[in-house]
Amino acid sequence: MFDLILSNALLKGRRVDVAVQGSRFAAVEPAGTLAQAGTRERLDCSHFLLRPPFYNTHTHQAMTLLRGIDDDCALMDWLTREIWPREARLTPNTVYAGTRLAILEGLKSGCVAFNDMYFHQPAVIRAATEMGVRARIGLMYMDQVSDHIENDATLALRDALPPTIGLSIAPHALYTTSPELLRRVAAQAESLGLPLHIHAAETTAETAIAKERFGFDSPLAYLDFCGILRPGTILAHCCHATEADLALIAERGCFVAHCPQSNQKLASGVFPWAKAAAAGVRITIGTDGAASNNGLSMIAEAKAAALSAKLGAGAPDALRFADLDRAVTEEAAAALGFPNAGRIVPGADADFILVDLETPVFAGGGDPDANFIYAADSSCVDTVACAGRLLMRGHQVPGEADILAAARTASATLLTP
Ligand SMILES: [Zn+2]
Repeated sequence: MFDLILSNALLKGRRVDVAVQGSRFAAVEPAGTLAQAGTRERLDCSHFLLRPPFYNTHTHQAMTLLRGIDDDCALMDWLTREIWPREARLTPNTVYAGTRLAILEGLKSGCVAFNDMYFHQPAVIRAATEMGVRARIGLMYMDQVSDHIENDATLALRDALPPTIGLSIAPHALYTTSPELLRRVAAQAESLGLPLHIHAAETTAETAIAKERFGFDSPLAYLDFCGILRPGTILAHCCHATEADLALIAERGCFVAHCPQSNQKLASGVFPWAKAAAAGVRITIGTDGAASNNGLSMIAEAKAAALSAKLGAGAPDALRFADLDRAVTEEAAAALGFPNAGRIVPGADADFILVDLETPVFAGGGDPDANFIYAADSSCVDTVACAGRLLMRGHQVPGEADILAAARTASATLLTP
């Protein structure tokens, strides 16, 4: 007896029946094969493309509440003038409301996991746990001590976390941390057995700070000197990674979280995807926060990554679709500590999305998976499941109206002078 059978779904160009048992895929067979099998629920997927969902490897979820503030400003001015003063007003309740809004937006675009770096982390854990998504929540470190960083309270929750939630050590960036702090948190990551997550080589201003303040030509060489480049470290951005930096990132076993729309909006730079891939770097994709993107759709982010890689290299084959698809699914799931997720095979974690093929972008020819990322939008995503649980069905997430109302109230407390 299976819990769920997806009947006659289109998976990588062939029609299949897929059975789910508990939190795992139990069987993937040719369509019609599981027609007689016993099951609690059967979904007719004749009109659906079946895919692994997205895994967002760099974000600040509750920044949904700060979306659309001074959109044409440079990063450092924007942070100091518009964002940090407002973030000083955050409370656990506003972060909870903003995170739920971000998770809802993610689910609508077929995303079931996020790698967060933000304040009031226990509120983020609560939101992710209640809504059933996967998450890795960063214990955040900056020189400027903030009452909103609840690292001790977050760490105290570690043993009680569900298997879908993990923690990381997340020093913000080299320009907000001293070398002593970076060395201390790198040692802490090792002793606690936690991965690291940091912004790295995002802008030319950061490269200048690495040179003037710390005496290193490269932000990544400096972070490595401080012990931050460890196996599994997620380095967000890396727009200004040199070829030597890329070789170092690959050698250390770090992941890059490429955030193309944030990089384009803030004119930060172009991540050298083709060079990074050639160097053996493990590349994934993140949206960054909604205030610097400004959307959290991983469909749009994946397409932007492809366009950025092709334009940046001056070659349309600089990033092939199969590599892009892998970067946003199984590679990203592995980066977030879920190596058994991101693939639809027997025994893998039952994370999946169903995409409505009865929409204009799928009526013509071509590879449906490529058409999903290059031509579709969130309106095509019908159903989303994580660890065997259906989190969205028929475009509806339970409690949507409450999530929107609470977010409006929370946002108003930050936007008013
Ligand atoms: Zn960021």
